[in-house]
Amino acid sequence: QRTNYVLFCEEIIDRFEMTKNQNIQFNRRLPKGSFYVQIDRDKLTQVIDNILSNAMKYSPEGGLITFQVTRRGNKIRTAISDQGVGIPKENLAKVFERFYRVDKARSRKLGGTGLGLAIAKEMIEAQGGEIWAESEWNRGTTIHFILPLDRESDQR
Ligand code: ATP
Ligand code: MG
Repeated sequence: QRTNYVLFCEEIIDRFEMTKNQNIQFNRRLPKGSFYVQIDRDKLTQVIDNILSNAMKYSPEGGLITFQVTRRGNKIRTAISDQGVGIPKENLAKVFERFYRVDKARSRKLGGTGLGLAIAKEMIEAQGGEIWAESEWNRGTTIHFILPLDRESDQR
């Protein structure tokens, strides 16, 4: 499905803002203009929903979640950052493995199966993209992913 990517992201963030029951702020850093991607919208919704719900789950009271989209040539990059507990460096790659969860005790309390990011990685790679995590312990986490742009996006 050919999809206007910025609009698509706006709608997902809107839904999270409307339904949140935590004191969390969303900061949108989205480019102006039309950028199209060829994606399965249901699947990409599932990917972004998981990244955003992880960000909320691990955010402190009053935390800020930044959703940034930037264009790089024929690719579009999305970075979703939180100010939460973070992920230790040695576990950064492992969070994309099935059933992997950083802290068993903490994770049990917060719920989940440890599948969300594994599914996200499969999805993004199947669409010709890449996904990775960056984090500083006790400072926060950023999940980045890149997707190829459709040729008919705005030129610059
Ligand atoms: P599910 O998504 O299946 O409900 P989950 O959220 O535990 O369960 P993933 O989304 O795959 O599973 O995340 C894997 C693990 O990575 C989490 O259990 C958590 O330990 C860690 N993690 C993911 N996102 C963050 C984040 N934003 N901040 C801190 N830790 C995170
Ligand atoms: Mg999850």
